[in-house]
Amino acid sequence: MRLVLLGPPGAGKGTLANLLKETLGLAHISTGDMLREEIKNNTALGQEAKRFIETGKLVPDELVTRLIRQKISVDPQVKRGYLLDGFPRNKQQAEDLDKILEQIQQPLDYVMYLEATLPVISARLTGRRVCKRCGALFHIKNKPPKKEGVCDRCSGPVYQRPDDKEETIKTRLDVYLKDTAPIIDYYKKQGKLKKLDADQSAEVVQDVLMKILNEEGKHHNS
Ligand code: AMP
Repeated sequence: MRLVLLGPPGAGKGTLANLLKETLGLAHISTGDMLREEIKNNTALGQEAKRFIETGKLVPDELVTRLIRQKISVDPQVKRGYLLDGFPRNKQQAEDLDKILEQIQQPLDYVMYLEATLPVISARLTGRRVCKRCGALFHIKNKPPKKEGVCDRCSGPVYQRPDDKEETIKTRLDVYLKDTAPIIDYYKKQGKLKKLDADQSAEVVQDVLMKILNEEGKHHNS
């Protein structure tokens, strides 16, 4: 099964993907994580992407689409299906994705639109902390690491992403409204959009999503 998780920053795409990848046995493909990995490894692509990410802007389409094309058409780990988290992020990327998937005859099944309100988004983003080593997600109020600054899973350092600082969050939300929100309609027209109330916890959102898949006759690992 091939799903897109679509929604504003702070809607809980990453947290939900972490739950769903276990439940559904799917690969989790996060362009944000892939780009941060490129930066960590100081690759040419990472160097190019860094200034966009740190200022909350979108990385140029061709760089991100190149990463995605490579991942979904070459990587054997994604054969059984995947959750796309953070891609596509504008109309151009959505169209490019459709073209890539058409070439390999593997269309998307659904686009899960996580709708969340501004106060919830802000609280999630400003409190979010991430493990620098393994990417595990924490929140200073809702899910603090057992030992401050140390990852529960791998003991790596837990930090605040530079783009989760208040001034950059504003830019990211503006970019979302201007560039990303229009693709909600793009997928609605394709009949692939399912809307979920993402103010709720990731566990509740997962339950609702599983119910939708069951109603649609899609079962695990299909
Ligand atoms: P995320 O981890 O999904 O919040 O992404 C963090 C940052 O990575 C974004 O603010 C963008 O700068 C960049 N990024 C991630 N995915 C994309 C994408 N599909 N297109 C362009 N930039 C992206």
